[in-house]
Amino acid sequence: MKKYNFNAGPSILPREVIEQTAQACLDFNGSGLSLMEISHRAKDFQPVVDEAVALFKELLNIPEGYSVLFLGGGASLEFCMVPFNFLEKKAAYLNTGVWATKAEKEAKAFGEVVEVASSADKNFTYIPKNFEIPADADYLHITTNNTIYGTEISEDIDSPIPLIADMSSDIFSRPIDVSKYTMIYGGAQKNLAMAGLTFVIVKEDALGKVSRHIPTMLDYRTHVKKGSMFNTPPVVPIYSALMNLRYIKAKGGVAAMQKLAEQRAEILYAEIDRNKLFVGTAEKDSRSLMNITFVLKPEYQDLQDEFLKFATSQGMVGVKGHRDVGGFRASCYNAMSIEGVQALVKCMQEFEAQH
Ligand SMILES: *Cc1c(COP(=O)(O)O)cnc(C)c1O
Repeated sequence: MKKYNFNAGPSILPREVIEQTAQACLDFNGSGLSLMEISHRAKDFQPVVDEAVALFKELLNIPEGYSVLFLGGGASLEFCMVPFNFLEKKAAYLNTGVWATKAEKEAKAFGEVVEVASSADKNFTYIPKNFEIPADADYLHITTNNTIYGTEISEDIDSPIPLIADMSSDIFSRPIDVSKYTMIYGGAQKNLAMAGLTFVIVKEDALGKVSRHIPTMLDYRTHVKKGSMFNTPPVVPIYSALMNLRYIKAKGGVAAMQKLAEQRAEILYAEIDRNKLFVGTAEKDSRSLMNITFVLKPEYQDLQDEFLKFATSQGMVGVKGHRDVGGFRASCYNAMSIEGVQALVKCMQEFEAQH
């Protein structure tokens, strides 16, 4: 039976991206050697990094003065690298979920942290609006897509101070105005590549402004200067990212990805709102296009396990919600087809008919 992969991360990638990466692991560029056993400094590998950087810049329309970095450590290491490199006295954080909370917690070790707003009062079911940004803070940190709660900041906000965004789970899902951000980062394993890679887009002239000593590996300037080659970068994940960037470009770029994301979300949210058994967890104006969260209505709570079993039997993979929200979560990243969400909708309708 055909399987539809709704995993939240690591998650679905286009089949051709997986096949091309697998092929390079067997024989890289006809060299007779695996991608796993060549030097990252080999003359064959440098073009992989160069093209991946060039495609980042092209697809996201990144202005002059920004560097694209490929690092290790995941988005979670960025939670401390951000304050290490940017927090001199005070930083502002918008708290929209577990990942945002973790980022904020790391910053507290480096200086004063102002929480500009939080949606913790309603279990992060909405994106706070009309919060005040302290003009004297070194930066404002936001999480544009809250993978666990299914909420998203889908526009580039205006910030009077440098804006830093965790875009782990919505990068390359829509056009962004990179000039509004000082830095954008994320783990690649949600919407870009296989696990093991962290991407960073950073404005070069914003670096080097803090007075503390920064360990070499945690200093973004090291990686800017060395083109992500200060130490051995994650070569296979970078290769898979390149294959996916080529795929995104061939499919019409991020504008085309956005259109698809909107179509998928419209189909699935319409069913959640229509179906007598289910209800969405996020407030409507905060709904994510990437992670679509829903639960059974209180009167049908006891059907939880039965629906999961039924959905699994119909080929749905990874629709169990995160333990902090419960219920169900359909992660609809770039590679999820319209057919995939239609199959999930059919499941929900058949289950409704049985009850
Ligand atoms: C998954 C996720 C993270 C954590 O990423 P790691 O690469 O595992 O450290 C951080 N932020 C968001 C928004 C995420 O979805």
